[in-house]
Amino acid sequence: MYSDDFDRDHLWHPYTSVTQPLPTFQVKRAEGVHIELLSGERLVDGMSSWWCALHGYNHPRLNAAVSAQLQDMAHIMFGGLTHAPAIELGKLLLQMAPPSMDKIFYADSGSVAVEVALKMAIQYQHSLKRPVKTNIATVRSGYHGDTWNAMSVCDPVTGMHHIFGSSLPQRWFVPAPRSRFDGDWDEADISPVRELFAAQHDNIAAFIIEPIVQGAGGMFFYHPQYLRELRTLCDEYGILLIFDEIATGFGRTGKLFAWEHAGVEPDIMCIGKALTGGYMTLSAVLTTAHVAATIGAGEAGVFMHGPTFMANPLACAVARASCELLLEQDWQACIARIQTQLQGLQAASTWSHVADVRVLGAIGVIELKQPVDMQRLQAQIVAHGIWLRPFGRLVYLMPPYVISESELDFLIQQTLAIVKNCE
Ligand code: PMP
Repeated sequence: MYSDDFDRDHLWHPYTSVTQPLPTFQVKRAEGVHIELLSGERLVDGMSSWWCALHGYNHPRLNAAVSAQLQDMAHIMFGGLTHAPAIELGKLLLQMAPPSMDKIFYADSGSVAVEVALKMAIQYQHSLKRPVKTNIATVRSGYHGDTWNAMSVCDPVTGMHHIFGSSLPQRWFVPAPRSRFDGDWDEADISPVRELFAAQHDNIAAFIIEPIVQGAGGMFFYHPQYLRELRTLCDEYGILLIFDEIATGFGRTGKLFAWEHAGVEPDIMCIGKALTGGYMTLSAVLTTAHVAATIGAGEAGVFMHGPTFMANPLACAVARASCELLLEQDWQACIARIQTQLQGLQAASTWSHVADVRVLGAIGVIELKQPVDMQRLQAQIVAHGIWLRPFGRLVYLMPPYVISESELDFLIQQTLAIVKNCE
């Protein structure tokens, strides 16, 4: 293990103390599914760098796309100017997105995409002369990012809302759906939404949710019927439905986007993470012609957002290459193969310290009964030659799609050995 003094003393890592930091491992390079540490270990990646690197690292096609774009321009402002990378990516995204999506707003990161989506919903309602429809509803156990409004719709407990006190906007929360993706639908799941909307619809502009997979809020896969019921209720009360597909997008759940499991479309959709194949930060907010036209007809006329790095050409170019690469291959067969193999994690389901094992697409989750000791576990994970980043009671895998059968087998066997040790 290599721990750099400067890093330890001066660099803040995600969700980490600067005064008592957990050890970090310095990466020298990464290629395919392998992460090479400065200390010499070669790890099989089980995280895709938090849902992003779906084609693995250092991919020749993606490298070439960045290099080619670099010869023309790394960046150019999007105000008053446009460029081929943004246009070509846009065309591809509309082919991949739900059919009713028609307008694209490029943003910088997932959290910013969520901010943009929420602002769109508020401006939409304002344009319809519903000025008090300004609040947002969502489910508990959700995760939508760390900026102010994104954080306000994250789970209040795991998002530690109390720390931010009255400075954090107060949102409407309903209990998270409990009907499992592969189980029976329990009508009781949707009742709290029906009750909330009946009582508070006057002040609710939008409902935001991660379709099918609640990611960082618990890695739970819920029943598609929840989204169908939600769509009906949103329509009944003039509430926009926002799908946060930032984690679920680009094939991860076995569909190109997770809404397809339910067959209902959102009014606004956020994408990010794997959009650039994990090369750099870029997100997009997609919406219908109706939402866009309504905003356009409103008091402001324009949509009030414009990031400096909007539609960054390098990011758009690599995103286009990544989407093309995905669509050119039989990605459904690839995800189906990974899903079948990830069922190997079920070996842990009978262990007394394991609460649940679940698999959907290229996501495998082992939920323990007690939270893991991160410091101990992280070192063990590296010692086993793999890279995972468990949190809370969850040890989970979402490997790059390019992982081979034998590499995935190694990842699963090592994960099982590590979890067994947590007993
Ligand atoms: N929404 C979801 C569902 C996410 O999983 C994440 C990131 N984990 C975000 C939003 C925020 O994205 P970013 O970290 O790029 O701001």
